Amino acid sequence: MNREELRKAWEDFTEGNDFMLNPDRDFVEKIIDGVLENEKNSKLKLCPCRLPDGTRERNIELLCPCNFKTHETWVKEGRCWCGLFVKR
Ligand code: SF4
Repeated sequence: MNREELRKAWEDFTEGNDFMLNPDRDFVEKIIDGVLENEKNSKLKLCPCRLPDGTRERNIELLCPCNFKTHETWVKEGRCWCGLFVKR
């Protein structure tokens, strides 16, 4: 998956939801860099802002998009941990 496909997949993911991609395009590009770099290294699209510990459970937790509505940042600030997805 290339950059454009990843962005499109994330945009599709937000459709009809109460969250959207961060409107700061440069910031989203940086997150894309991080996720694609992780994919190159681990074959998984892992969150670029949190550390894996080598376990399968943690990897599942870190697959982007993750279950970010459980994050404290979602409850308090309306964003996923990294700020890739924000409340509409
Ligand atoms: S915190 Fe945001 S960027 Fe990180 S995995 Fe979750 S949705 Fe993706």
